[in-house]
Amino acid sequence: MAEATPPGIGSAGEDDDRTGSNFIRSIIESDLREGRVEGGIVTRFPPEPNGYLHIGHAKSICLNFGLVQDFEGVCNLRFDDTNPATEDIEYVEAIKRDVRWLGFDWDDREFYASDYFEQLYAFAEQLIRSGHAYVDSLDEDEIRAMRGTVTEAGRESPYRSRSIEENLDFFRRMRAGEFSDGEHVLRAKGDMASSNMKMRDPLLYRIRHARHYRSGDEWCIYPMYDFAHPLSDAIEEVTHSLCTLEFDNNRELYDWVVEHTVGEPRPHQYEFARLNLDYTVMSKRKLLRLVQEGLVSGWDDPRMPTIAGLRRRGVTPESIRSFCDTIGVAKADSRVGIDLLEYTIRDDLNFKAPRVMCVLRPLRVVVTNFPEDKVEELDASYWPRDVPKEATRTVPFTRELFIDREDFREDAPKGFYRLAPGREVRLRYGYFIRCQEVVKDDDGVVVELRCTYDPETRGGSAPDGRKVRGTIHWVSATASLPAEVRLYDRLFHVPDPEAGDGDFTEHLNPHSLIVAAEARIEPSVSADAPATRYQFEREGYFWQDPHDSEAGRLVFNRIVPLRDTWAKIEEARAKTDEPARSRSEEEPASPPPPTTAERVEALSGPERERFEALSALGLSDADAVILTENPDVAEYFEATRDRYDEPEALANWVVNELLRALKDQSLESFPVSPADFADLVRLIEDDVISARIAKDVFEEMIATGNDARAIVDERGLVQVADPEALTPIVDDVLSSNPDKVTAYREGKHGLIGFFIGQVMKQTDGKAKPELVREILEVKLAR
Ligand code: ATP
Ligand code: MG
Repeated sequence: MAEATPPGIGSAGEDDDRTGSNFIRSIIESDLREGRVEGGIVTRFPPEPNGYLHIGHAKSICLNFGLVQDFEGVCNLRFDDTNPATEDIEYVEAIKRDVRWLGFDWDDREFYASDYFEQLYAFAEQLIRSGHAYVDSLDEDEIRAMRGTVTEAGRESPYRSRSIEENLDFFRRMRAGEFSDGEHVLRAKGDMASSNMKMRDPLLYRIRHARHYRSGDEWCIYPMYDFAHPLSDAIEEVTHSLCTLEFDNNRELYDWVVEHTVGEPRPHQYEFARLNLDYTVMSKRKLLRLVQEGLVSGWDDPRMPTIAGLRRRGVTPESIRSFCDTIGVAKADSRVGIDLLEYTIRDDLNFKAPRVMCVLRPLRVVVTNFPEDKVEELDASYWPRDVPKEATRTVPFTRELFIDREDFREDAPKGFYRLAPGREVRLRYGYFIRCQEVVKDDDGVVVELRCTYDPETRGGSAPDGRKVRGTIHWVSATASLPAEVRLYDRLFHVPDPEAGDGDFTEHLNPHSLIVAAEARIEPSVSADAPATRYQFEREGYFWQDPHDSEAGRLVFNRIVPLRDTWAKIEEARAKTDEPARSRSEEEPASPPPPTTAERVEALSGPERERFEALSALGLSDADAVILTENPDVAEYFEATRDRYDEPEALANWVVNELLRALKDQSLESFPVSPADFADLVRLIEDDVISARIAKDVFEEMIATGNDARAIVDERGLVQVADPEALTPIVDDVLSSNPDKVTAYREGKHGLIGFFIGQVMKQTDGKAKPELVREILEVKLAR
C-alpha cells in the first residue's frame, strides 16, 4: 500500500515544483514566445559510451526527451565519443537498449561526435587562421604549473606567439602522426589572467596514438570535450544544451568556441543539478570498478544503480520516470533519499502486482487432524483489499504445510502474536491452527511443528467468536514449488560512500544480497508469464530473474521490500539485540466489541434521533451507528452530500475508508476535503474507476493532496468497462487455460474467480470485475 507521505520529498531542491514546471521549462517557454527559436526546440542526450547508464542519466534522459514531448521538438541521441581509450561498442548498444526501455525514442537521430571529426578539425584550423588558437609544445606538467591558481594569474606559454603558418604546419603534422603523445597540444588563445580557470588557454586537441572503437586508426589527434561538445551541438542545431551543474564554469568556454566558429544561430547551455542518491555511487568510473573488481556480478547486477541493474531487479520504467518527475529539476545540488525511489517503485507496483504467498525460510507444519491425501483448494484474493473480492486464484491446503521460521517462536516474547507452543494463529485465506507439539533434531533445532486445525474456521473466523491475534502466510509442503529468492538490499551501508577518506568500496554492505535458497511458493505462479511482478504477502515485491529463472528452477528477485524494512531494522538494532522484522499483522488485545444491534439498543435521546435520521437516508444500521457515535465524521459525511447526494455510497466510503485512513488523526488536519472525497465516490459510482483502484487513488490523495480526477487521468486508471475491450482479453484467458475451462464446465464453478483474476491481472487491475464475470459466464456456458 502507498505510504502516507512520500519521504524525502521536501529536500529535492528549491526552485522546482512537482507539477511539471521548472526553470528550464520557463526558459524554453519564453524563448518560444519571443521567437528566439525558429523551427522548434532541439535537445540532446549526450552519453559517453564508456559505461552503462545509471539512474542519474535517467534524470537527464527524462528531462531532455520529456521537454521535446511537451514542446513538440526533437531530441537527439548523441554519443560523445571523443576519448578512444575508454569507449566501446558494447556500451553504445547498452545505452540504446536502456534509453528505449525507459520509453524514449530518438527515431533516426542517432549521432556520434566521432562522425564530426573531420568537421571539428576544420573548425580548429579556422581558429588557428583567425589567430584564436596555437600549438603549444610545453609538456603536461609545465602547462599545469603555468596555469596559475584561483588567486594568482597564469603565465603565457612561450609558444603562444607562433605565427599562423607555423601553427598550421604543426597542427597538420600532429594530425599526420609525426609526433608522439603529449609532444604538442592545440590550445585556444583565451586569457591567462581570467578569473575563470577554464578560460586560461584551454586545450582543444591532444595527440593520442590509440585505436578508436569507430574511427579505428584514422586519427591520432582527438578533440577535447570543451571543443567537441559545443560544436557537436551546433552541427546538430541543438537549441537547448542541458548539462549538469559542474559544467557551470565551462559555459564561458562553450560560448567562446561557438562564437569564434559557427556564430548564429547557436546553441545555449543550461545547467541543472545532478542526481545524487543515498547508499550508492553514481559515477561510471566507480561503477566500472565494482564490475571489474568482481564486487558485483556485472553492470546489470540488481544491486547496481544502473538502468540495466534496475531493469533486471524488476523495477518498471514507469517507476523510474515517475521518480524523475518527483525529484524535479532544480539549480541547487542535493542528495535524494533512496527511500523516495523505493516509495515510487512500491507506489507503481501496488497498482499492478497480484498478491501471492511465498515462504522464504520454510518450517514444516503437520496438521495432524487433516486427512493424509486430501487437497483442499481455498479461494484466495489476488488483491485482498478489493471490493468485491473478485479476482482470485486457488491455494491448495494439505496436511503438510510450510510456514516461515520467523513466524514461530518457542519462547514468544511480549508482543509476538504469531505461532508458539499452545498458541493459535490464523493461516491467511485458510484456517486457524494451534501448535500442539514441537519436534527438534539432535542439535535441538526445531524441524517440525505438529498442529491441529479447526475445520470451523475456514475463511478466517471462528463461529464461536474467539479471536486470534496473528495472521501468517503459508504454502502447502506437497503442492508448492521450490524457488530461490534473492533478497537485495542497499549496496552500501552508509548514505554517502564517497564521503571521508578511504576508498568507497570499504563501505560496501556485506549483506546486500541474501539468498533464500530453499523458498517455497504457491503453485499459481507457475502458469504465469515470467514478467509478472508479484507482491509476496508480508514480504515485498518480486519477479523472476530474467537470466536465471526457468521452468523447473524458479529464481525470484526482490524488487523492493514492503515499506521501509531498513529503517525499522536499524531502529530495532539500536534498541535491542533482537532481530526485528517489519510485520504489521499483529493486532492488539481487546475484549470482543459489542455487536451493531447492541450498540443501536444503547442509543437514546438526541443520539437516537440522529441514528433514525441517518437510517431514513437508507444507510445500513452498521453505517448509521458508526456515524452516530462519531459526530465529527458525521459532519464530514453531511458535507460530502453537498457535493454529491448519494448517502448510501458516501456513508459506505466514509465509514470504511475514511475512518481507516484517519486512524488516530483528527479530521481537522485531514488533507482530503469533503468535496474531493465526494468526487472520488462519484467516480466509482459512475463506473469510471473500480473500487479497488479507488482505494489506491484515495491513498494518493492523502499523500499528495491532489484530487481524484487528476490522479486518475495522470495515471491512466480509468476502468475498462467496455465489453468490446474486455472480450478479447477474456477469450485469450480462456484459450490459454483449456483444462480449467473443461473443469468449469464439468461443474467446478469456483474457477470463475481464477478466470476473473487472470483478466484483472492482464488489465493491471483496471477491468470492471462485475462485467468480466458477466462476459465469462456467457462464454463458459457454451
Ligand atoms: P559519470 O560521472 O557517471 O560518468 P558523466 O556525466 O561522465 O557521468 P556522460 O555519459 O557524460 O556521463 O553523461 C551524459 C549526460 O548525462 C550528461 O548530460 C550528464 O550531464 C548527464 N548526467 C550524468 N550523470 C548525471 C546525474 N547524476 N544526474 C543528472 N544527469 C547526469
Ligand atoms: Mg563524462
